[in-house]
Amino acid sequence: MVDNFEEKFKEYAHLLVEVGMNLQKGQTVRISSQVACAPLARLCAEHALDCGARDVVMDWNDDFISRQRYLKADEAVFTEFPAYQKARYDWMLKKGCASLSIIGSDPETFKGVDPKRIQNWQKTCALPTKPYFDALESNRIQWSIGAYATLAWAGKVFPDKEGEGAVDALWDAIFSVCRITGDGQGVSRWKAHVAATTHRASRLNEYNFKSLHYTNALGTDLTIVLPENHVWAGGADVTPAGLPFVPNMPTEEIFTAPRWDGVNGRVYAALPLALDGNLVRNFYLDFQNGKIVNVHAEEGEEFLRNSIQLDEGSSYLGEVALVPYDSPIRNSGILFFNTLFDENASCHLAFGSAYPTCVRGGENMSEEEQKKAGLNQSANHVDFMVGTSDLSIVGTTHDGTEVPVFVDGNFAF
Ligand code: ZN
Ligand code: ZN
Repeated sequence: MVDNFEEKFKEYAHLLVEVGMNLQKGQTVRISSQVACAPLARLCAEHALDCGARDVVMDWNDDFISRQRYLKADEAVFTEFPAYQKARYDWMLKKGCASLSIIGSDPETFKGVDPKRIQNWQKTCALPTKPYFDALESNRIQWSIGAYATLAWAGKVFPDKEGEGAVDALWDAIFSVCRITGDGQGVSRWKAHVAATTHRASRLNEYNFKSLHYTNALGTDLTIVLPENHVWAGGADVTPAGLPFVPNMPTEEIFTAPRWDGVNGRVYAALPLALDGNLVRNFYLDFQNGKIVNVHAEEGEEFLRNSIQLDEGSSYLGEVALVPYDSPIRNSGILFFNTLFDENASCHLAFGSAYPTCVRGGENMSEEEQKKAGLNQSANHVDFMVGTSDLSIVGTTHDGTEVPVFVDGNFAF
């Protein structure tokens, strides 16, 4: 039993709608959810309508059926994107639909599926859905992601607990890292946390580092050049109309983009990576002028290689994110096997696309201009964790001054 479950569950749904999406009166909302997460999807839909949403459009999906299709459906279906689906995404873009995704998958839901089929489907979806997802990624429309403790996911996070016990433990963890206590103050606690994170991001922007140098005892020795007009962001994102929203709930990170051609050296993963329903463990990547030139994983190397080869941009980095080792998620000691949570446990990098807003004016640049400004382009974006308790990051400013940014896994300022 989770203490005060009903109050906490409601406070969480309110947080996702009011702070996560920051839903505006008259706006249409798209909610994407697995069938197994329906209770939270329903509560969010109800609260969105109570807050004045014009309508709620549901994108239901189901991991069981997705898996069955990957295993048994005709090969050709993974290379055709239905025209009615494309029309749906175009309609959502036209309506400016705010988006809320609720996740709760078993991290190994696609174990045993031919990775080629998953990869084909991802490639097939990328282009037709791009206009809508670009609008979300470049912060033109608000979006957010929340989570639901399903039995399948909870069982992976808490293998020693039985059934409902694991689910309760996962709910406790989700509520606690989202600062939900059931006292109805979740929204104001988040606003305070967002303000503190924004303040730290502005300090990093004042330093305007030329490059960052990562080292730790695992063997990481990586230099990352930052684009000349890079912007560190964290806490909340803001639409062009000035609406703040929180894309990832919870969030502890402060992030920017690396120069796609400015990464050199080796980086070791600090945590396993859940990738397309498979786990990759104990891996490192070698970089030369930005490109991943060597990959090694003790487990799941094939999935990692596939993802890095999805397209040209997948073998370059698109995100640099700083998270103190002493974060609520790391302190919980729980490995969620889900990036939404685990990326907040640790400093991370992502291979694949950069967020356009990570350079000044990037959201108004063409793809070519973005690339010139240093931002990587790809249909892929995969976060992997690199922060350890002994991680050191030293920043070098444009006048050559070296400034400690991270000492022993935590911010130096
Ligand atoms: Zn991140
Ligand atoms: Zn990311």
